Amino acid sequence: MTEAVPGGGSVTAVSGAPTPAGPTDADWAAAVAAVRGLQPDARVLLICHVNPDGDALGSMLGFALGLRRLGVRHLQATFPGPAGVPEPFRWLPGVELLVPQDDADPAPDLVICFDAASESRLGDLADRLGGAGTSLVLDHHASNTGFGDVNLVDPHAAATSVVALGLLDRLGVPLDAATATGLYVALTTDTGSFRFEATTPAVHEMAARLLATGIRPGDISRRVFDTRPFGAVRLFGEVLGRATLEPAAADGHGLVWTYATRDDLVHHDQPAYVLEALIDSVRCTAEADVSCVVKQSGDAEWAVSLRSKGAVDVSRVAVGLGGGGHRFAAGFTGRGPLDDVIGSIRAALPTAVLTAPPA
Ligand code: 5GP
Ligand code: MN
Repeated sequence: MTEAVPGGGSVTAVSGAPTPAGPTDADWAAAVAAVRGLQPDARVLLICHVNPDGDALGSMLGFALGLRRLGVRHLQATFPGPAGVPEPFRWLPGVELLVPQDDADPAPDLVICFDAASESRLGDLADRLGGAGTSLVLDHHASNTGFGDVNLVDPHAAATSVVALGLLDRLGVPLDAATATGLYVALTTDTGSFRFEATTPAVHEMAARLLATGIRPGDISRRVFDTRPFGAVRLFGEVLGRATLEPAAADGHGLVWTYATRDDLVHHDQPAYVLEALIDSVRCTAEADVSCVVKQSGDAEWAVSLRSKGAVDVSRVAVGLGGGGHRFAAGFTGRGPLDDVIGSIRAALPTAVLTAPPA
C-alpha cells in the first residue's frame, strides 16, 4: 500500500467496456494502483452475484484473504438476497468476512465485484458501486458490460478466480492454503471439476500451484459437489422423474428439461440452493444437446438454467430472454406460467443453433 488515493486519475482513466481479448496492461496497472493506493484504514467491500456459486464465493473469499495478507484490515464481503451462505460453502476460509447485504458499507473506499457480468446481477447491492470511491470488476463473462471504474474481464479465463489470482500475483501476495482453497473451489466449479472445454493447460498449471499449498482436493470436492441431505436425494428423484425429452427441439439437436416448484422444496424440507446441482444430472441425457432446469423463485417467477454440449449457443437464448451467461452455460429469469417459460425457450433455440442438425 502506497500513497495514491483510490479514485485517482490513473484509476478512472481506463474505465469503459472491457476488450474481448481480456485486460490490457493499463487495466492491470489501474487495478494494482487501486489496491496499493489504499490507506491503512481504508474500507473495502467485496460483492459477488446473486445466488452465489463456487466461482463467485470462492473467488471473492480467496481474494479477500489475499487482501488481508496485504494488510487491508477493514474488509467486508457480501452477496445480494436474504438467503444465507449455501451449506456446501459454509466451511470456506474467509466465510467470517461475510455480512448480510443490509450491513454492507454504503460508501467503501473500494468495492470489488466478482463473477457478475452486469450490475443487475448485484441486486440491491448495485448502489454500492456509486457509493464507493473506486469500483473494480473481476469477471470472465464475454457479455460483461464494463460497469466498474476498472474492469478486469477475461472471457478466456475458465473462472473468475483465474483473474483474481492474476491480480494477487501482480500485487505480490504469496499464496497460502486459505487463499488457495477459495480459488480452487472456484476453478473446479466453473470447469466442472476439470471436465469442460475450458480446462486448458493453464488451468491445470493454476490448479498445480493451488494444490502445492497443501489443500486437499478430495475433501474439497466431497464437501462442495458430493454431499447433500437425504431429503435432497429424494427431491432429485422426484424432479428427475418428471424430466421431459423433446428430440425435435433445437432443429433436431434435442432438449431435455424439468422443473422444481417451491412446493417441492417444502415437501422435502430443502433450501433452494440444493437445486443448483440438479442441472448436472439432467445434462447427461444422451439424446439432447440442450438441457434445462426451471426453478420456481416466486409466484410466477422462475430461475432458468441452460446448458449445451456444443451445438447450441445457450447464452444467445438467455440474453434474448433477459439473462446472460456463457456459450454453453447460461440462465435467465422467466416470468409467467411454466408452460410459457418452456415455450419461450423452445421458440428461441433454433435461432441459437451453431452446427448442422444431426442427420
Ligand atoms: P446457472 O445456470 O449455473 O445459474 O448459471 C449459468 C451461467 O449463466 C452463469 O455464468 C451465470 O452467470 C449465468 N446466469 C444465470 N442466470 C442468469 C440471469 O438471470 N441473468 C444473467 N445475466 N446471467 C445468468
Ligand atoms: Mn464464473
